[in-house]
Formats: sequence, C-alpha cells, structure tokens
Amino acid sequence: MSIVVCHTCSTEWAATARPWCPTCLLAKWTSSPNLITEKHAPENATAIREGYRSVVSEEVVNNLRAFLADAVESGTWYYNAEYEKYNHVTRLPLEQKPGAGVSSGNSQPDRHLDDFVIADADFDPHLFADDRDETRRKLTTGIYRPLDACSRAKCDNLSQPRVRKCVLHADPPIATKSRP
Ligand SMILES: [Zn+2]
Ligand SMILES: [Zn+2]
Repeated sequence: MSIVVCHTCSTEWAATARPWCPTCLLAKWTSSPNLITEKHAPENATAIREGYRSVVSEEVVNNLRAFLADAVESGTWYYNAEYEKYNHVTRLPLEQKPGAGVSSGNSQPDRHLDDFVIADADFDPHLFADDRDETRRKLTTGIYRPLDACSRAKCDNLSQPRVRKCVLHADPPIATKSRP
C-alpha cells in the first residue's frame, strides 16, 4: 500500500485504493452547483415523465455532506463507456436509502435503489441512485470499466481519471510519498 500526501491540503491517503485526495474531492463535490439536478430531486418524485428515472431520497438531501463524506472514503471509480465520463459508485449499507426509481409514466417511485452514484464525478458532478444489479450489469457488459493502474512501471497506484498516471507520476505531481 502506497500512502501519499496531498500537495494541496496535506491529507494522507492510500493511492493504491483511491486515485485522488479524498479531502480535495469532497470539497469539489460539495461546491458543485449542479449536484442535485431537477430530474433527480426528491420533490419531483411524483412528476409524471417519459422514461425511467431515479430520484435521490430526502435522507440524502438532508444529510448531503455526510453521504458525500462516506462516499469519498468508500466508493469506486468507473469509466462509463456509454457516456465517456467517470462515475463514482458507492454501495451503501442496507439501512441507508439513497434513492428510488420511478418508471416511465408513473407518479410514484416503484423500486428502492441502493447504490449512491456521482456521475461525471471529476468534472461536473451530479448525484443519482442506481440499483446494484444494474451496477453489476454495467460492469459485466463493459459499460463500467475500473480504473487502470498507473502506467509507470512497478507503480501499483491507481491512475487518475482521464490521466494514465497516478498522483505521484503525473506531470506535475499532485502528491508526494508519505515518509513514516
Ligand atoms: Zn487534498
Ligand atoms: Zn504511479
């Protein structure tokens, strides 16, 4: 495990497990103006629309920072080949309810969703909830692809989204190896 120190905020983290500084990423997410779009907002759960959609729960809206702080420490990055963007997916404990699905033409949510997803998580982050079977389907069909390891030989840190290098081997580097 490679522990690194963020050049921006001095947070230490394991770059083999997370491609980016969790503190800086959380700051990016919490300052995003488009985090909960109208389509996925809970107050619009009863609006009838064409096409399936997911709405995030009131629980998420009321505890947004806590949900994001948990996600930043435990979620997984995937390249989404369908949208050519990066999604950050967090499997939440069963007692937490990140959202619900509303079928096309319905005015009520009709299924629970258990994955907390930040779409376009490194660029224009916005939240939605997804079914964990759907996450699995995206993985097995190759729509979701895990991040590669850093392209530098013998480096097993994760590469950053959009960059084939880890935070240590990016040019310029954005973190330094931690000295115990
Ligand atoms: Zn940082
Ligand atoms: Zn590297």
